[in-house]
Amino acid sequence: MSNPTAYQSLVDHQRDIALLGSTQAVLGWDQETQMPSDAVAHRAAQLGQLTRLTHQMQTDPRIGDWLDAAGNSDTDADQACNISYWRKGWDRATRMPEDLAVALSEASSVAMAAWQQARATDSFPEFAPHLETLVGLKRREAEAMGWPAGGEAWDALADEFDPGMTAASVSAVFTPLRSALVDLRASVPEQTTADISALKGLPVDQQTRFLKDLVARMGFSFDGGVMATSTHPFCTSLGAGDVRMTMRSDEDTLLTALGSSMHECGHALYEQGLPRVFAGQPRGAYNGLSIHESQSRLWENHVGRSKPFWEWFTGQIADEFALPGLDAEQLYRAVNRTEAGLIRVEADQATYDLHIMVRFELERALLNGDLKPSELPDAWNAHYRDYLGVTPDSNATGCLQDIHWSMGAMGYFPTYTLGNLYAAQLFDAARAALPALETQIASGDFAPLLAWLRTEIHDPGRLHSPSELCERVTGKALSAEPMLAHLGRLHGV
Ligand code: ZN
Repeated sequence: MSNPTAYQSLVDHQRDIALLGSTQAVLGWDQETQMPSDAVAHRAAQLGQLTRLTHQMQTDPRIGDWLDAAGNSDTDADQACNISYWRKGWDRATRMPEDLAVALSEASSVAMAAWQQARATDSFPEFAPHLETLVGLKRREAEAMGWPAGGEAWDALADEFDPGMTAASVSAVFTPLRSALVDLRASVPEQTTADISALKGLPVDQQTRFLKDLVARMGFSFDGGVMATSTHPFCTSLGAGDVRMTMRSDEDTLLTALGSSMHECGHALYEQGLPRVFAGQPRGAYNGLSIHESQSRLWENHVGRSKPFWEWFTGQIADEFALPGLDAEQLYRAVNRTEAGLIRVEADQATYDLHIMVRFELERALLNGDLKPSELPDAWNAHYRDYLGVTPDSNATGCLQDIHWSMGAMGYFPTYTLGNLYAAQLFDAARAALPALETQIASGDFAPLLAWLRTEIHDPGRLHSPSELCERVTGKALSAEPMLAHLGRLHGV
């Protein structure tokens, strides 16, 4: 077999795998947005069947031969990018023992049900044995995948979510960030609550229309995407030309619906901007979850919570909802209020990352055997006291609040904070490249910012690793400084 043929065989085979994956995504989207509850069992069977087919295709022994042959030929940068990710995927798929894959899938579906029950009844002991099983299985998975010398089990799991992310690289950024955020929390002056009562109880249909206009103005293409409503907002790509996102359906104030819409739109703009010529190939795919999150946070926090944005957007709200007395400064203060709380998903910009650090340190300790699952509640509460100055009054509002660990997702949480850090650093670079950026945002003109993101972040897809991309675009390695400077400006400290 000649080498170009081997490469083309890989392209074709991987495109078929990607097509199956996108078919699963269609079913998942339907399940979240419209499927009737009686269809649960049938949908699970459909998804299970597709998972089996996908796994068979991912472990097709011909892939190993094609990779060996293609890897020995002259390749350009795009092909080399594809081969390296396909090699990684092949290694992961073939290193995973089948009995372990089955055990993990069964243990996590049982653990999710136990977690739901334990959270509802605030009973950690009901969940503890399931967590213990999962930690043991994830540890086995990490050992099967392996990690570079000097690393640890966590690294093997994290690499799947963010290529190259390790516990050591995360710690290097998190440790200085943590003490700075703890200090910031203590020094932010007392904030008076802005009066935002005018934005409560607005007609839901009108809010939906209004926010659709906003995302279109941000650059979301309704020819290549859909915006629907759901209880938990999310964004998913169903393939080239089809990006779906949702906004909250149950908001009592326009501000929370606005924040989640801009967040999901940031994800959607990234997906719509990925190079379509490489659809179904790693070269045309998103560059890990941290960079994905950076795109949502950049729009949500650096655009949507900025003064220039509110100079423009206050007038838009006033016109649409006939509220002439709105004050831009009050709204700007309201969306930037900070207060330490117990719940991660309700946290603001200045405290959110402290919630993530608690989870990162604890899951790392669990995987390394430094923390027993039964000791989790005490360790959790002690971390919350130290970092956030608050103590959970129950495990339901403490260590049982997130679904991630019960699903077996370990090594995932730091991508949220890395996304925040990338967002701040990228936005600084955008400001430097676009001197008129603030004036443009103050007039509701987002096109120059989107064009910059398209060129610098979206077009490259996975061509460079996330850390290389950051250096190329910002001239520096990822650091906590830009985000700390941003928070300092925001809170005047
Ligand atoms: Zn997100």
